[in-house]
Amino acid sequence: MGGPTRVTVYIALGSNIAPRLKFLRYGLKRLVESGVRLLRISSVYRSSPVGYAAQPDFLNAVVCGKTSLEAAELLMTCKAIEKETGRTVGKRFGPRPLDLDLLLYENRSFDTPRLTIPHPRMEKRAFVLFPLLEISPKLTNHRGVRYDLLLSKLDKGQKIQRYRRNWTGKK
Ligand code: ADP
Ligand code: MG
Repeated sequence: MGGPTRVTVYIALGSNIAPRLKFLRYGLKRLVESGVRLLRISSVYRSSPVGYAAQPDFLNAVVCGKTSLEAAELLMTCKAIEKETGRTVGKRFGPRPLDLDLLLYENRSFDTPRLTIPHPRMEKRAFVLFPLLEISPKLTNHRGVRYDLLLSKLDKGQKIQRYRRNWTGKK
């Protein structure tokens, strides 16, 4: 290993197929094993599904970590971990055991058919911004706008509640 530069990344985890907490924990474990050193982990929040409402509630969390993986590699890693949990390519916003979204990669932007960073829908999703702000309260987007301001402007109809504060242990 030539000691490549480590970048700061933010990743969102979501699950709405039982056992949801177990799938989130599995995601954390596999991210670490794949080369993401976790620095901060949000609480788990419960949110109502958006886009396609006739499905179970989601559990969501956001983590911040350091990695020397390239953005494309990290996305491939996330997709591979999702697949390990039994996720099949199905309805775009439909039920899934584990969803891993790459939110931020340092301060960099990517726009390719496979990968868009910052994640294109994150600023509209309370279930992303809420946990993100828990671990990084003063974070700004690539245009310098604070995420707390963006959250305050969102539709208040997005129901989100804290579900579990300490959740990375076994029980
Ligand atoms: P969503 O998470 O928005 O519900 P999916 O998980 O089904 O949607 O992802 C659909 C596609 O989005 C993936 O195949 C992936 O290639 C692409 N994608 C683009 N940018 C990102 C990103 N920043 N993080 C995760 N997936 C992304
Ligand atoms: Mg996804």
